[in-house]
Amino acid sequence: MTQTSHDSARTAYDILIVGGGMVGLALAIDSARQGLATLVVEQELPEPETPVAGVYSPRVSAISRQSRDWLTAMGVWQHLPAKRPCAYHEMKVWDRLGQGRIGFHADEVQADNLGHIIENRWLISALWHQAEHTPGLTVLAGRTVQHWSLQGEQVQARLSDDTTATASVLAACDGRFSTIRREAGMATREWDYQQKAIVTTVRHRQPHRGVAHQVFLDTGPLAFLPLQDETGDQQASSIVWSVDNDAVQTLLDLPKADFLTALNRAFENTLGELTDCDPRFSFPLQQMHSKHYIAPRLALVGDAAHALHPLAGQGVNLGFQDAAALAAEWHRAHQRGEDPGSERTLRRYQRQRQGHNLAAMAAMEGFKRLYGSDNPLAVLGRNWGMSQLNRLPLVKRPLISTALGRPRAS
Ligand SMILES: Cc1cc2nc3c(=O)[nH]c(=O)nc-3n(C[C@H](O)[C@H](O)[C@H](O)COP(=O)(O)OP(=O)(O)OC[C@H]3O[C@@H](n4cnc5c(N)ncnc54)[C@H](O)[C@@H]3O)c2cc1C
Repeated sequence: MTQTSHDSARTAYDILIVGGGMVGLALAIDSARQGLATLVVEQELPEPETPVAGVYSPRVSAISRQSRDWLTAMGVWQHLPAKRPCAYHEMKVWDRLGQGRIGFHADEVQADNLGHIIENRWLISALWHQAEHTPGLTVLAGRTVQHWSLQGEQVQARLSDDTTATASVLAACDGRFSTIRREAGMATREWDYQQKAIVTTVRHRQPHRGVAHQVFLDTGPLAFLPLQDETGDQQASSIVWSVDNDAVQTLLDLPKADFLTALNRAFENTLGELTDCDPRFSFPLQQMHSKHYIAPRLALVGDAAHALHPLAGQGVNLGFQDAAALAAEWHRAHQRGEDPGSERTLRRYQRQRQGHNLAAMAAMEGFKRLYGSDNPLAVLGRNWGMSQLNRLPLVKRPLISTALGRPRAS
């Protein structure tokens, strides 16, 4: 068991966070920076690793400018392996069933890039590193919360090592299948797309030159997200390929050469020959939204509150925005000598985040339906729409700004 502790004898905290994934650790660092005594309980042990050139892990995230700025302000981004966060300055999107094409370029909004693609593994290890150097933050890894209850104005938790901890508020950052959310009896709304995303890293003959690609197939989107290692190599991309449930196993079982042929046919040979790929994984494509983000002395954050279709590339960015909003509310309460777990504080958090996240999910749902259809009228309409949009910088610019996570520019 690992303990990253600045006061290991302590049992009373301001904040208890269950789940030390990307969102939980970021929330913990921000909350401790605001002067709140913070405890994180994470079931997994951290894996100390060193990057190896040419070796990539399959789970990656597209990190928006807004998320990067926040992570930089907290001293996290600086711990990422040099050159690994791959800046992408252009995104090309097209429809396989027509002529519709749209391109987004960082120049259109006077930005250096549209975001970065980074393997989750390195982001988590940078967060761990910074957590270890944040005063007022204790991380208990390899442990879970066995039981928790409200005791007056406190949350009391019994951990798997038979110790107890108390805090003013509990933040559930334990992911899409949140045990804390379930134990609190908080209802969710779920959409199952009856599809899975196939994820792997592929190598291609031509360099991606910092361009992200997304093609809409009749089954759903296929994304090629550019990767880069310490040597600056640009001939690897992470793919997320949406496939109907009944076709997934066939693609996973295909011999590698046949899989690469099928993939490159779908991708229209955009980066030249695909020369290799890593083992393939698949994830179910579902959206989930909790009807409430708060309960007495409890807040849901990140995937515990909402899980998006990866087409958006927004999941962890929305989680980071939740975390930043909640930490800011805690800070505000703390400065005024108020209780960070009060209903007033938690309501302010829910008000800020729930509508925003729901709007992002509704947009994804609409997009998915439009592009999931092979009805000729829908195909014609979306191709026409994409081509028109591509010619309208005044409409495109706000879209790019939204993707960057910054206020809309006019
Ligand atoms: C195929 C795919 C591609 C994606 N691509 C992108 C992308 O490009 N960009 C993007 O922004 N998002 C993407 N996402 C979504 C993104 O991965 C999630 O939004 C993000 O991981 C959520 O982070 P989280 O910390 O909220 O939850 P999680 O990453 O699920 O972390 C939860 C943590 O809680 C711990 N935990 C769980 N239960 C307990 C317990 N009982 N006690 C203690 N600890 C516990 C877990 O071990 C884990 O560390 C993608 C998702 C998928 C499936």
